[in-house]
Amino acid sequence: MQKPIYFDYAATTPCAEEVLTEMLPFFGMKFGNSNSLHIYGQEAREALEMARSEVAQLVNAAPDEIIFTSGATESNRIAIHRGRDRRGVITTTTEHKSIFDACQEVPNVKYVGVGNDGLVNFSELEHSLEDDIGLVSVCLVNNETGVLQDIARVVDICHRHGVLVHTDATQAFGKIDIDVHDLGVDFLSASGHKVYGPKGVGVLYFNKEHYKLLRVKGSNKDVEFGIRAGTIPVALCVGCGKAAILAQQHMQENYRRIHRLREMLLDGITGQLEEVYINGSLTSNYPGIINISFRGCEGEALMMEASRICVSSGSACTSNRLTISHVLEAMGIKPDIAQSSLRITIGKDTEVEHIRISTEDLVRATNKLRKMSPVWDMIKSGVDIDQVFSCKR
Ligand code: PMP
Repeated sequence: MQKPIYFDYAATTPCAEEVLTEMLPFFGMKFGNSNSLHIYGQEAREALEMARSEVAQLVNAAPDEIIFTSGATESNRIAIHRGRDRRGVITTTTEHKSIFDACQEVPNVKYVGVGNDGLVNFSELEHSLEDDIGLVSVCLVNNETGVLQDIARVVDICHRHGVLVHTDATQAFGKIDIDVHDLGVDFLSASGHKVYGPKGVGVLYFNKEHYKLLRVKGSNKDVEFGIRAGTIPVALCVGCGKAAILAQQHMQENYRRIHRLREMLLDGITGQLEEVYINGSLTSNYPGIINISFRGCEGEALMMEASRICVSSGSACTSNRLTISHVLEAMGIKPDIAQSSLRITIGKDTEVEHIRISTEDLVRATNKLRKMSPVWDMIKSGVDIDQVFSCKR
């Protein structure tokens, strides 16, 4: 049986062949510990530092402003816990779960809302900054909707108030141009496995001016500048470096292709189905992440019915729970629309034929489910469906 077509590139990506090839020797002959002073150690250290420069180059940072972590979850955690300088944190209501989890241990956290389009409410942000806040954290590209935030504007507002800014750039890293100086951010998180690198390695960029905030007192400065301890997984870092190079080389062509495929998919679906909604800003987004609602159908039922494709409903990290996505809820998307949403993500291996099959499957599945759906019948006969849903909750 043929495997279904993968449309979940925001959850993870396959390792590129070139990345695997680059990593392999570091699981074998080049096994040294990058902290050892002998030749085995030095060989590993050289490869590690090369990978660091490759990652730095992708975001226009200096190599000594980059540390490797175990993933974006850890990068986010370090930035939130240490970057706030023991003061409060402001974040948004649409962040990734790893940000919310890190914020749980912060005594003073405020959540700024977003508009219908998923974009940050800037006046609310500015107003919240009046208190004792040390750090603001806003995601660059949202993992559920692809909404692209104006981080330079966030930085402008925050820095005027003397507040540092962290951005979770996990879904943007290697996919759109990122220049830490143009953005002006103080901290930035990213992950290897979202850009055809290995799982288990992440990146944290920090502006050198704030190094002291991150450094653990008494730690060994030779290991990730004393910000993170332990034996470094050199093979994974080398893979992350190679993934960064490849991402940079192919960024423009990948972006253009993905944009074209997105338009094709949306034209196909909206041309054949009524009452479909694209969630999130149509003008400020990363085109590879599409969040779309098929009114009258449950997202999970659609996933089962459209069996030739693999997509996700809500965020992959929370999709085993049948709750409405916190991101869509925060955007004020009505419950029946939110429950009928799918996240379809396009990657470098997606082809035109894949888009044709997914369009065909989604249209067929929607028509089939709507025929059996009492909710769809109610919608068509003019019942105020929001009332029904708000009673249920
Ligand atoms: N932030 C965002 C926006 C993400 O999409 C993810 C992955 N789902 C993470 C953080 C966590 O990344 P990792 O798996 O590398 O810990």
